[in-house]
Amino acid sequence: MPARSRWNYFKDRLIERFGARVYKVGVDAGFDCPNRDGNKAFGGCAYCSQEGSLSPHQDPKKGIIDQIESGMAFCKRRYKAEKFIVYFQAFTNTYDKVEVLRERYDSALGHPDVVGLSIASRPDCINEENVALLKEYAEKLPFFTVELGLQSAFQNRLEWVNRQEGVEDFVRAMKLLNDAKIPVITHIILGFPGETYEDMRETVELAQQCGSHGLKLQMLHVIKGTKLAHIYKTQPFELMSMDDYGELVLNLVQHINPKIELHRITGETDSESLVAPDWVQHKTKFFSWFDEQLEKRDIWQGKLFSTHDKTTDLPNYSQPQMD
Ligand code: SF4
Repeated sequence: MPARSRWNYFKDRLIERFGARVYKVGVDAGFDCPNRDGNKAFGGCAYCSQEGSLSPHQDPKKGIIDQIESGMAFCKRRYKAEKFIVYFQAFTNTYDKVEVLRERYDSALGHPDVVGLSIASRPDCINEENVALLKEYAEKLPFFTVELGLQSAFQNRLEWVNRQEGVEDFVRAMKLLNDAKIPVITHIILGFPGETYEDMRETVELAQQCGSHGLKLQMLHVIKGTKLAHIYKTQPFELMSMDDYGELVLNLVQHINPKIELHRITGETDSESLVAPDWVQHKTKFFSWFDEQLEKRDIWQGKLFSTHDKTTDLPNYSQPQMD
């Protein structure tokens, strides 16, 4: 079995689905976040950058259309991208009135090469009203997902990074989104200080059992200018080595339902923004190592899934095909 058929890599599924190179273009659409504006807390999650996790090559001062155009130009130049998903990436993109959400989402759909939207949010900003709106887009666009941060199934870890929401918020939001048949990509951080393999497995299990359509895994890493960078400097904590993280993901992937698309298996941060660990900036190296090890050890996504897992089959989110 070739390496790439050993795991359900989201980018491979996009090529199959659209017959073209499809890339996400992240934008800052001008939303805030309740964990930064004082509604829940000030300052945000400890790992969140000042740009609210926007890609470093984007300029949040530009309008949405300009950001989309510059993001598309960048992806065409660097990756020969042909089609695009506009990723409402920075801050909390369901944190406003439904009319405002609609206006900003619609503004991203004018370009003929845009095939869909991906909306990043926090579980406590998902409610019945905005789910009804999100459902409209899920039903009409060739591609539509919501991206939700679970990060950890353990409340003490969420508190450590000042997440200001509960695991139960994630469970509730997933129920609303699943009932509306909206595919959800769940974000998970692995490698909190003191976290065991069993803990991390439990977080992944919770994401699966709540009906995640896809997963984004990343290792806890430290970005300049964040609260985490301050904690790391004043009370240093251990971060995983590439070898340890690699072994962890090789283990976890065997327990993940093969139908779940893996959107990310490690985070990526440029050298300018990164504090530690250094290896996080070498995503390609990690990918090559991961693919090589899957083949060498005869491992694949879901190899151990059917023997233990209680998750029922994933819902079939059939979205409209492209014209
Ligand atoms: S919820 Fe998201 S945008 Fe808000 S502070 Fe946390 S990581 Fe940043």
